[in-house]
Amino acid sequence: MMRKRLIVGNWKMNGSRESLSELDGIAAAAEAAPEVDVAICPPFTLIERAAARTPALPIGGQDCHAGEKGAFTGCISAGMLVEAGARIVIVGHSERRAAQGETDAQVKAKAEAVIASGLTAIVCVGETEAERDAGEAKARVSAQLSGSLPVAGGDVLVVAYEPRWAIGTGRTPTMEDVGAMHAMIRAMLEDLLGRERAGAVRILYGGSMTGANAADLLAVANVDGGLIGGASLTAAAFVPIIEAAA
Ligand code: PEP
Repeated sequence: MMRKRLIVGNWKMNGSRESLSELDGIAAAAEAAPEVDVAICPPFTLIERAAARTPALPIGGQDCHAGEKGAFTGCISAGMLVEAGARIVIVGHSERRAAQGETDAQVKAKAEAVIASGLTAIVCVGETEAERDAGEAKARVSAQLSGSLPVAGGDVLVVAYEPRWAIGTGRTPTMEDVGAMHAMIRAMLEDLLGRERAGAVRILYGGSMTGANAADLLAVANVDGGLIGGASLTAAAFVPIIEAAA
């Protein structure tokens, strides 16, 4: 099945109202590349303004709570993200799994809440450097997938493979290693969701993707796009990645 490429920027805890001007160049590049889906996930506080500034560019959240509402100080529900104008939500990013101790079960519940709210869930998985060195990368990613994937599939579900040691480090796996992991994820999706629902799920690579390496990474079989941190903060750095995907 042909899947439309998806390039998503994750601003993490970066950006202010001033940074929203970067969206103008990003939205223009996205408009010039209709064969690629592009989205930006800024901090929660910027979602509403971002969605209003560039209405054609999907804006997303970087996390959400699994519940609808209640006594969860500091948390935001998927429904609240909908109201702010979000169309996608990243769940299970390794920075949250590591720093907030999020479990696979929590990530799955969040992904289900995202999809139930009518949004697209990007579920992140990826091994640590120690796990890769010990030859356990595939086992780790496969355990995360079985534990974190929502029961739905199809185009409302995206999986991002992000080796933790490649995030923000300037290091990337070899293209062979990326290909081997994405092939395993694709096979697992078919087992877990069935061939038809798995066929529409896009698998993104994330971890130090830049304008310089995007074309090579995107040429690897089963790499359907990218999840980009540092290089998504400015139009100057992000637009070449959109162009490489087009
Ligand atoms: C990320 O945090 O999702 C990521 C891929 O970051 P970077 O592109 O900065 O490695």
